[in-house]
Amino acid sequence: MTDPLPLGGTIGILGGGQLGRMLSVAASRLGLRCHIFEPSDDPPAGHVAHQVTTASYDDSEALAAFAQSADVITYEFENVPADALDALESLTAIRPGRKALATSQDRMVEKQFLVDLGLDVAPFARVDDIDSLHHAIETVGTPAILKTRRFGYDGKGQVRLSEDSSPDSALASIANAPAILEGLVPFDLEISVVAARSIDGAIACFDPGHNVHLDGILRTTTVPAPVADGVVSKAIAAASRVLEALDYVGVLGVELFVSGDDLLVNEIAPRVHNSGHWTQNGCVVDQFEQHVRAVAGWPLGNPARHSDVVMENLIGAEIGRVADLATEPNVAIHVYGKSETKPGRKMGHLNRLSP
Ligand code: AMP
Repeated sequence: MTDPLPLGGTIGILGGGQLGRMLSVAASRLGLRCHIFEPSDDPPAGHVAHQVTTASYDDSEALAAFAQSADVITYEFENVPADALDALESLTAIRPGRKALATSQDRMVEKQFLVDLGLDVAPFARVDDIDSLHHAIETVGTPAILKTRRFGYDGKGQVRLSEDSSPDSALASIANAPAILEGLVPFDLEISVVAARSIDGAIACFDPGHNVHLDGILRTTTVPAPVADGVVSKAIAAASRVLEALDYVGVLGVELFVSGDDLLVNEIAPRVHNSGHWTQNGCVVDQFEQHVRAVAGWPLGNPARHSDVVMENLIGAEIGRVADLATEPNVAIHVYGKSETKPGRKMGHLNRLSP
């Protein structure tokens, strides 16, 4: 598909979590349909999408039928197995494209990509076994973080190392998986840029948000971020460079560490991003609509912010706060409809707007 998707067209979404759910809502507002592909039962996106396929990523018949039903395919998570992508791509275009996935699925490839673009990153070294971990500790130093190269999210697959830590037990705690060792950066704060690129190469960036994490999980995003204008410009320039280098189509999240006037890129996520949820109530066109527009070949919307916003995640039992939150003026509530509440699980979020 190279022409813009017509009204009534179908976007296939790999993954049926909250991001797929909010993409489906945005797509249906624009008169487009979504078909969700998700292995687990009762996915949150299934409550609002036009169609759901419940099948595993190695079910080639289900993948083929899914691809044939869609005009374009996108995804809400970056760990889609490569074989599934091969099968889908032979039938229907995938946006954002494979380069974005290959780059972000592996922390080592991602770091090298960022360095090659001339962007600053934390000191890092490759770790394949205990010998390379010892070598990495010598080059990177401590304190440091050992991170699995693949399948890490919300701080999972990570272990911190101090001068006194045992390298053997650190490696054992990530099941000896291929990893990288990253120097612990003494940053002032964390920000992210959520940015979009259209099929014709136009770029639109939302304002950088200030992110606060607890135990590796995002707690709040605040806009505007308390950083100098020069830092905002640098962050937006970095995100734009990443988008162009990946020939990217869709919305991308870029997480950065700010230290004075210096910026380090932590990681990129080739999808709509938790730190962009504030845009739902702070902008005319939010990150979900922006992603739908981009992958559908439509022009991008205006990313300008009309309000100051604090986005707060509702994690685990915090979803019980919804009744109280509903009494607060200027709070927009977003609930993901997950059937089971678990500690550490993202159940919803709220956007508190400043009048
Ligand atoms: P990540 O999964 O890489 O986004 O890491 C989760 C969180 O751990 C980040 O948002 C930071 O708060 C922290 N973190 C990760 N890498 C580093 C680093 N090299 N230096 C300091 N803090 C880090």
